[in-house]
Amino acid sequence: MAANVSPVRPAPLDAQRVRADFPILATTVNGHPLVYLDSAASAQRPLQVLRAVEEYETHSHANVHRGVHALSQAATAAYEGARERVRRFINARSTREIIFVRGTTEGINLVAQAYARPRFKAGDEILITALEHHANIVPWQMVCEASGCSLRVAPINRRGELELEEFLKLLGPRTRLVAVAHVSNALGTVLPLKRIIEAAHAHGAVVLVDGAQAVPHAHVDVRALGADFYTFSSHKLYGPTGIGVLYGREELLASMPPWQGGGDMILTVSFEKTTYNELPWKFEAGTPNMSGAVGLAAAMDYVESLGLTAIAEHEQHLLGLATAELARLPDVEIIGTAAHKASVLSFTMKGVHPHDLGTILDAEGVAVRTGHHCAMPVMTFFGLPATARASFGCYNTEGDVASLVAALHKARGVFS
Ligand code: PLP
Repeated sequence: MAANVSPVRPAPLDAQRVRADFPILATTVNGHPLVYLDSAASAQRPLQVLRAVEEYETHSHANVHRGVHALSQAATAAYEGARERVRRFINARSTREIIFVRGTTEGINLVAQAYARPRFKAGDEILITALEHHANIVPWQMVCEASGCSLRVAPINRRGELELEEFLKLLGPRTRLVAVAHVSNALGTVLPLKRIIEAAHAHGAVVLVDGAQAVPHAHVDVRALGADFYTFSSHKLYGPTGIGVLYGREELLASMPPWQGGGDMILTVSFEKTTYNELPWKFEAGTPNMSGAVGLAAAMDYVESLGLTAIAEHEQHLLGLATAELARLPDVEIIGTAAHKASVLSFTMKGVHPHDLGTILDAEGVAVRTGHHCAMPVMTFFGLPATARASFGCYNTEGDVASLVAALHKARGVFS
């Protein structure tokens, strides 16, 4: 990943201490202590985030931008302060490049509708990869339907890695936009982003990165990466739901029309002509999610206090351990064996439908995700209806891996 590895090696993560920050982890499920292995779908929130949201709601809430009264100014300061926090977190040049959105899905749709749709035409191409989440497929199909441009798909191999040579061959003078995941949610594959972005730029294409699964696991520096657009969701980064970020290079955002109209995105309105607000507010119509932004900023403080490098090392350790343990189970097949992976482990068990497997694991208190993971083309590629997926976060432990393995043994007993 385009990780900014700190020269000072952080202390290894003390997961037991981290767990104390997450009250929900003390829950029992079906009489068992909760083993939460579904952070890739949505991570749990630490007290630091819950308290920041409560503090905002209790003491600072009013509508933003439009009021002269003290609370409105406090809310505006909190909201715009969160924007600056995001800018620092991903090392954007300016807060004008940070658009608050509902999440990754909305970030991609914004670019599809406000960047791609108005300028692409028949003969133009959008290039994606075969491992994308539906959120990075469907918005481009909608653009293609509306504009007549075409969608091209770069293949993956049986390990779940992008076939880079094939990807490079698909790049050409018609390629207007490349949209790729930083990390695959279904397979865990980390994509060679630097290489992809350099090659796309060499062909004059703009690059959007779906960073939903990357931001919780590595220090993302949008300027070092050279991404034109980078989008992610707060709720996978230990922050609240309903808020996320679209980073866009200022000159691109400035050249785009607004995509939704309403309050906050205007400077003046008359029935004859409306003029639009400056960046970033041009893309934020209506009352925004202030408490969500505050919570997201607190989540960024939180992960940086643990150290993203320490989090990544901890998760890699758990991923390695779980991979080795599952590889020893003869009836378990790991789906996604890329050389470079983030902490996602998809698997199937022979003779057991993943949904049944998920139900049995849940009976043991082990929460994994089962299904197509919003990546149906990935399932089709592997000839599977679904997989079970365990994913690790900063609060998981070796004990959680042991619980997963024990629950898998139990499942085998039920079905044999
Ligand atoms: N992209 C990837 C790789 C994801 O994993 C997800 C969520 O699982 C999304 C996009 C969509 O994120 P959200 O539902 O928060 O908009």
